[in-house]
Amino acid sequence: MNSTAIANKHIVILGGGTAGWMTANLMAVKWKNQNVQISLVESPAIGTVGVGEGSTPQLKSFFDQIGIDEKEWMPACHATYKNGIRFNGWSSREGFESYFHPFASRIDAFSAPALFYNSMHRRKGVNIECHPDRFYLSAKLAQQHKSPIPDHNFPFPIGYGYHFDANLLGQFLSNLGVSRGVKHIQAKALDVGMHANGDIANLHLDNGKTISGDIFVDCSGFEGVLIQQTLKVPFVSFKENLFNDCAVAIPSPVSQPLRSETISTAMKYGWAWDIPLTNRVGNGYVYSADYCSPEQAEIELRTKLNLLDSEVEARHLKMKIGRVEKHWHQNCLAVGLSQGFIEPLEATALHFVQETIEGFIDAMNNSNESDSVCIQHQVTFNQKMNQRFEGIRDYIVAHYRLSSKDDTDYWLANSANPNISDQLKRIVNGWMGAEDITQIIQQAKIPSYYPPFSWLCILAGYGIFPKQLSDAPKDSAAHKYDLNYVDDFIQRCSLNFQDHQSFLDLHF
Ligand SMILES: Cc1cc2nc3c(=O)[nH]c(=O)nc-3n(C[C@H](O)[C@H](O)[C@H](O)COP(=O)(O)OP(=O)(O)OC[C@H]3O[C@@H](n4cnc5c(N)ncnc54)[C@H](O)[C@@H]3O)c2cc1C
Repeated sequence: MNSTAIANKHIVILGGGTAGWMTANLMAVKWKNQNVQISLVESPAIGTVGVGEGSTPQLKSFFDQIGIDEKEWMPACHATYKNGIRFNGWSSREGFESYFHPFASRIDAFSAPALFYNSMHRRKGVNIECHPDRFYLSAKLAQQHKSPIPDHNFPFPIGYGYHFDANLLGQFLSNLGVSRGVKHIQAKALDVGMHANGDIANLHLDNGKTISGDIFVDCSGFEGVLIQQTLKVPFVSFKENLFNDCAVAIPSPVSQPLRSETISTAMKYGWAWDIPLTNRVGNGYVYSADYCSPEQAEIELRTKLNLLDSEVEARHLKMKIGRVEKHWHQNCLAVGLSQGFIEPLEATALHFVQETIEGFIDAMNNSNESDSVCIQHQVTFNQKMNQRFEGIRDYIVAHYRLSSKDDTDYWLANSANPNISDQLKRIVNGWMGAEDITQIIQQAKIPSYYPPFSWLCILAGYGIFPKQLSDAPKDSAAHKYDLNYVDDFIQRCSLNFQDHQSFLDLHF
């Protein structure tokens, strides 16, 4: 690649959290032949957010791109495999008190069409089975505490994510980045120097030095030191759509058997995560400060964990929910919490970090030194990022709107919240109107971040169906799929997967 806009440039990354080090590593690998210099400035005194312990399958492709095997990073970060997320207690509809959101796998093509088909009939009032858990191999693997890695004779790879210690992942990526030539500067940025054209010129550090660069990547966390404070890019709050703005995290001892799923349990004023690592369980309660104090939240979480009398420390965090208007502005790219955050219910933040870096790398690789080409890429990039943010937001909002919990003013306010997007309305109305969920998304050209099967799982998983049901004769079209066959197929497939703990013991 010759004379792209990135060749011979100095990239300065502000922030050494997961976002900063993911950026540094990916850029170092992707631009290793472009004579690019990368410096990362971070202040140990400020520290990182230090949570964020669940991923989507995208993280596997991040490690593949930087050439790091699971055997290298997973044990170093006490990591485990994640088949998906189980949602407990979000719905009180009978038979739908719990459901599992799997990651997509090719093998679903053999069992999931039955769910799509049955759910259509159920929405037309036929009493037919369509709880999503029965139709996905990943749900079975999670239920059986199995790893998602099949024996070598099984030809279908399964989609999976990871659980990991966020601080250790940061350290691992930091060591790796430095070993690959990233210059690591431990100092606080006190001030930002500007060019006349509005670009960032340099950072003045508390060690008395100044660092200049061509491109600045803002990975400074919720503060958004460069993108928000310096460049004054406006922040679009999602507070009207999503009420949660605080979290409290408390670790608990490792539990057996070692699970291969995240559990999200509905609480009085939000929800609690439960993430199994090899050396501990990560727990946290995400709640709204408008409805619950930090003390109340901590007590409710400790009670859930049976840790009321324990001295183990709780960490309290504040969250700023929303996004910046532009993720790439002037010569600054915002990555991670500085560009925005949607509460962690579906653990999408690092996925987004990765997409932002990959999108920027693509845009720069396709730009030349001409300003107009670069600006064109910038506009497209920002539109795409904003659509992504809105797509994830809608899916998270759907959890709250579809939940039937009504035991506190928090849940009542959520289910009555009128602030939902036209796109989300279209999906829910189409579902209630017994339309095909795939067609709703395709025909309405909804730039949804989540694929149709995810929407199907959430809508069917919460039991969003008509109450009045009638039985259809056994030979009617509604009974096209033999569910005993589906059960048998999934059970037999699951025999090709090992117990999660045994798999980790054997391979790592
Ligand atoms: C409660 C909670 C749960 C979460 N759960 C998940 C999850 O399950 N999955 C997921 O993918 N994500 C999750 N996230 C998000 C995830 O934690 C973040 O996306 C990820 O950690 C990246 O954070 P960051 O690097 O952007 O910011 P931070 O970790 O806050 O890092 C900011 C960095 O900037 C540096 N810095 C700031 N100002 C200056 C300055 N002036 N000078 C020098 N350095 C500076 C700091 O020292 C630090 O190194 C969660 C977040 C929260 C709050």
